[in-house]
Amino acid sequence: MRKVNKDFNAPPPALQQGFEDEKEDLLTKKSDHRFNSYIYNNAVKEELKELYHNKCAYCESFMSDDTFTVEHYRPKKGDGDYSYYWLGYEWSNLLPVCKKCNNKKRGQFPVAVPSQFLPNSGKKCRVKIPQLLPNGDLDMEAMKANHPYLLDEKPYLLHPEIDEPKEYLFVKITGELESQIGKEVNEYHYKRVEKTIQLTNLNRDVLITNRRRIIEDFEHLLRIQIVNFLKFSEENKPDNLSSVVKLAFFVIFEIIENQFKDDQEYTLTGWSVWKNIKEILFKEIYKDNQEIEKLLDYALALYIESKDQ
Ligand SMILES: [Zn+2]
Repeated sequence: MRKVNKDFNAPPPALQQGFEDEKEDLLTKKSDHRFNSYIYNNAVKEELKELYHNKCAYCESFMSDDTFTVEHYRPKKGDGDYSYYWLGYEWSNLLPVCKKCNNKKRGQFPVAVPSQFLPNSGKKCRVKIPQLLPNGDLDMEAMKANHPYLLDEKPYLLHPEIDEPKEYLFVKITGELESQIGKEVNEYHYKRVEKTIQLTNLNRDVLITNRRRIIEDFEHLLRIQIVNFLKFSEENKPDNLSSVVKLAFFVIFEIIENQFKDDQEYTLTGWSVWKNIKEILFKEIYKDNQEIEKLLDYALALYIESKDQ
């Protein structure tokens, strides 16, 4: 998962028009409304594909037309006695999601507040009806996924257009995703990660393997360059060591950093490796070889210095 900037105030015109056409029926029949999938699917498909570089909003796998679906973050028909029917055509509620993630998540939407309505208790509860303006019209602002009216129910599932996944998730050396936040530090945030992984199956075998493969490729490249560098400096005894180090290693650091570009798959992997390069990558390579440890630390220091300039 990675953060995507979507302008909630600028839904695609076809979605806006479709919502206007369906609004009366939707608000009358509520969850019994016959949702027009053309409006929330075909009409927004291209915009979502472009925004997400054709990747799944949850697992970051590239999607083909066969695996592309439009997911309702808050389900239009929930697994239980709730339905966010009024958000069925809401731009901030629509995410491009691969079939695997969508089939796992379905109508689930756990929230941290009590799910039963508690009248006069002052306690907050799951949102079950749209917010209306004093004149009885729909409050369109309160339909946006980042509005307190919805956020106050404290959803567990991370929203890639509101939450910053880098603050929650981390890829381990094994390729598994785990929480960056300790349970004791913030239980709600910890649970958000746990439930997000569980709801969309973000640690399914194929995803772990794909993320692990990216880390292995980095490892492989680095090992090759170390061998090349040692051979070259042994044979040539260069006067200017730093320029040889730069030549040998900067390209690899750039490859790792580039893996976090938004059009790449599983970008959280490159970001996690880069953030913890010594632990995840270097240690695996130098084991107890202090000469190589020093070399990698030196190369990294040179690289960071060059970036700061
Ligand atoms: Zn997916």
